[in-house]
Amino acid sequence: MTPGGEVVVALDVGGTGMKCALVRPDGATVHAERHATGAARGPEAVVGTILDVAEGLAGKARADGLTPVACGIAVPGVVDEARGVAVWSANIGFRDVPLRELAQTRLGLPTALGHDVRVGGLAEARLGAGRDAGHVLFVAIGTGIAAAHVVDGSAAVGAHGAAGEIGHILVRPDGPRCGCGRPGCLEAMASASAIGRRYAELSGAPATAAEVADRAAAGEPLAGRVWAEAVEALADGLATGQALFDVATIVIGGGLAQAGPRLFDPLRTALRERLTFHREPQLVAAALGDEAGCLGAALLALDTLAKESR
Ligand SMILES: [Zn+2]
Repeated sequence: MTPGGEVVVALDVGGTGMKCALVRPDGATVHAERHATGAARGPEAVVGTILDVAEGLAGKARADGLTPVACGIAVPGVVDEARGVAVWSANIGFRDVPLRELAQTRLGLPTALGHDVRVGGLAEARLGAGRDAGHVLFVAIGTGIAAAHVVDGSAAVGAHGAAGEIGHILVRPDGPRCGCGRPGCLEAMASASAIGRRYAELSGAPATAAEVADRAAAGEPLAGRVWAEAVEALADGLATGQALFDVATIVIGGGLAQAGPRLFDPLRTALRERLTFHREPQLVAAALGDEAGCLGAALLALDTLAKESR
């Protein structure tokens, strides 16, 4: 570690936990810590914890002889990156929280606020599985499904901070109702929670998506059917994504990606079957694991610094 080296204070705030780190400009993490989000305490308390943790990290950096130069914060939901506002979040309850300004005031550091999946995509596209691809679609599949379209290292935000909601592409008009209120969204068919829910509905016994994948691989017909339905729906969603974005690489992250070849082999085939004149993208598993959000928050903060100094 270079004494006096520059670091970014980075936080990835999730519904249950916060991953926090000091990240060097080259993407190396020099210190990492985790904290509970405590979302049940309400959004104001969560904001208080975010600011306390960020301030603590900046202090830790200085105590270690490092220089904190910026702060990057990633949050879920709808995020207005241009204004630095956490517009809306289902699991934390944010409603128009000016998080960037609050952090800047508390820390005295230039701060960037980003969307968790978009910055995760940024990190995978620049440091992880989509490195050197140029055009990358990062799709995170866990309790929900969301994506980030990254071109030349920069993620599209959308006019209202809501780009990349691939989980709400309609894939089965007669399908189960999605959390957003509409039936048949990709998320309601192929998220890890949807797979578990569907299996429980048909078998009468609860199971996680990972268990469904295991049982399908072991030859259990019901699990095989549920898994295949999810893979088909996912391929429909990704084919739409490819038609829209024509990427070189699709990076799949989130819990479902851990199913490995059980997911990737049939998904690759199903996606290929759906492509006509579109070029087939590489389909790869995310490489950065759950550190992607933190690294991406740091990258976003560094990008903002670079733009401001121009
Ligand atoms: Zn939906």
